[in-house]
Amino acid sequence: MDDCLFCKIVSKEIPSTPVYEDERLYAFLDINPVNPGHVLITPKRHSTNLMDAPEEDVGSIIKLAKKIAQALTKGGAAGINLEMNNGSVAGQVIPHTHLHVVPRTVDDGLKHWPGKEYAPGEAETVAERIRQDLG
Ligand code: AMP
Ligand code: ZN
Repeated sequence: MDDCLFCKIVSKEIPSTPVYEDERLYAFLDINPVNPGHVLITPKRHSTNLMDAPEEDVGSIIKLAKKIAQALTKGGAAGINLEMNNGSVAGQVIPHTHLHVVPRTVDDGLKHWPGKEYAPGEAETVAERIRQDLG
């Protein structure tokens, strides 16, 4: 993709701070980290997000996330958040698949997203819809 920022980072046309690279993946520091050590894992082959990414890329991303999470923990992180924003409504700004690996520290002030409640019977309706759409 000629016009994709992360494709340009993968091809080294735009500089980044890498932490890992193999034939399928490139992992580098987020330029505006939630905490120092915040890593983005991206497939070298362009896809937009989780919904169109090849399964092999998704599997490799998750395996690498575990390794990077272990490394960050070794380096002092007290916990790790994985976040993947898929679609602009979900907060995706860069339309090239990537997974955020965010090291957490005690009292870093980050909050979890707020939870809603289901109306009576709603959860079963929603679950049935998902089961049907899963095919
Ligand atoms: P998202 O909202 O999931 O699309 O996140 C995109 C992330 O890319 C943000 O956390 C940005 O800080 C990060 N980002 C944008 N440009 C760069 C860049 N040139 N190098 C490293 N990270 C970047
Ligand atoms: Zn791309």
